[in-house]
Amino acid sequence: MSGDRMAFRDGFLSGDLAKLGDVRLAGSRCRACGIALFGRRLRCENCSSPALDHVSFADTGSIHSYTVQRYPPPQPNACPEPWLPRPLAWIDLDDCGPRILGPIRCNPDDAEIGGRVHLVCGVGWIDQASGAEVIDYAFEMDKRI
Ligand SMILES: [Zn+2]
Repeated sequence: MSGDRMAFRDGFLSGDLAKLGDVRLAGSRCRACGIALFGRRLRCENCSSPALDHVSFADTGSIHSYTVQRYPPPQPNACPEPWLPRPLAWIDLDDCGPRILGPIRCNPDDAEIGGRVHLVCGVGWIDQASGAEVIDYAFEMDKRI
């Protein structure tokens, strides 16, 4: 927790939560098999090795696949009003990062498999117990040149 902000889950974000542009997705990389895991782990999910490095991942990646999410997630998620369908994608983070699931902030017609995206962190909801802003993540499509 950083001031009046907290990560959506411990071990999944790194950086100063007061500076959202500096926040990165975090996790572990196995020294035995090399796999990257979203979220800090104690053992590798692939080979069970305890030899893990805790790392921050690239804030860019590409869309492996996606679907269109037509219904808003349940409370306490803060959602745009009115709700508009959005792409929900499997994203391969650059630099051999993990494949993770995340929403893309764009019109579903603008998403495409192989499309380039970048991370955007923001306030997802307010923690009911502490009143803290809970920081979560999404992606935006890179502008085509
Ligand atoms: Zn491993």
